[in-house]
Amino acid sequence: MTQRSDNSRRRSPDRASGRGPAVYTAFGLAAEAEPLSPGLHVVATPIGNLKDVTFRALSTLAAADAVLAEDTRVTRTLLAHYGITTPLVAYHEHSGEGVRERMIARIKDGEALALVSDAGTPLVSDPGFKLVQAAIEAGLAVTPIPGPSAAITALVAAGLPTDRFFFEGFLPQKSGARRNRLGLLAAIPGTLVLFEAPHRLPEMLADAADVLGGTRPAAVARELTKLFETVRRGDLAGLAADYASSGPPKGEVVVVIGTAPEDAPGPEHDADLDARIAAALARHSIKDAASLVADETGLKRREVYARALVLARRADDAGDA
Ligand code: SAM
Repeated sequence: MTQRSDNSRRRSPDRASGRGPAVYTAFGLAAEAEPLSPGLHVVATPIGNLKDVTFRALSTLAAADAVLAEDTRVTRTLLAHYGITTPLVAYHEHSGEGVRERMIARIKDGEALALVSDAGTPLVSDPGFKLVQAAIEAGLAVTPIPGPSAAITALVAAGLPTDRFFFEGFLPQKSGARRNRLGLLAAIPGTLVLFEAPHRLPEMLADAADVLGGTRPAAVARELTKLFETVRRGDLAGLAADYASSGPPKGEVVVVIGTAPEDAPGPEHDADLDARIAAALARHSIKDAASLVADETGLKRREVYARALVLARRADDAGDA
């Protein structure tokens, strides 16, 4: 049987700081926090719905000597909601070596520090990796307190295979670099999970449809756990077309992309198709050009539309240059 970690060094919840007993409140009831061992406690927090927090997370945040937060204003809201008064210290992506050294020194002095990000699991496209690394190098305990992450939440709602998945995080912001990266991801034999800023979603989906092939099943999970949670499912070409016409969505999004259907043609584009689309684009809107070429070639309208979007954007970029 696996052994639990050694709790012999557990400290009183009264803490070295001299503050009163560590307490949190939920549903109008106060609970005393469990004592914490010295070390770095990496705590996952809600991704929108404040109720998505574990008892252990609350207890850890209440009992810690300090909470290291990406944005102290954001975390203050969570702590206030649960009646937690632990002092906050800023720890974000720009925090340098000096800040880390001070945190490590505090833990060596016997403190328990909790690390959180604005939402979800720290270190997952969020700050914390260097601090965890520094703590491990210093021989200090690192304790994960699991909880929400937008990546897993989106994956389970997407309706795509979950037996094998690859978390990519954010793609590069510039189209050329993004397309190169998508080219590498094309070979991965599993579901892809990507974060994206809402204003870049239409162009990201167009590039994904073009590079990975428009027939791949995909989902856009928006505002997960929040009031306007929606999951739009379809294929990449269809989703690219939808967001090209509706414009960027409001709120946060995760994109989940399945592997290509067995019978799907490769994403290579023949020069003839591109020439037809380019000619049609010279005279028509993207939508009309796509319909025209789809009728001429017998290809799926959505596929042609996704390719037309890419060619139109490329022509715009060339015009701007
Ligand atoms: N560490 C966080 C986690 O584990 O969920 C992710 C942080 S990353 C900086 C922020 C990105 O996560 C957003 O751009 C979006 O892609 C995704 N995200 C976070 N919260 C979300 C939500 N409620 N609904 C959809 N996507 C979300």
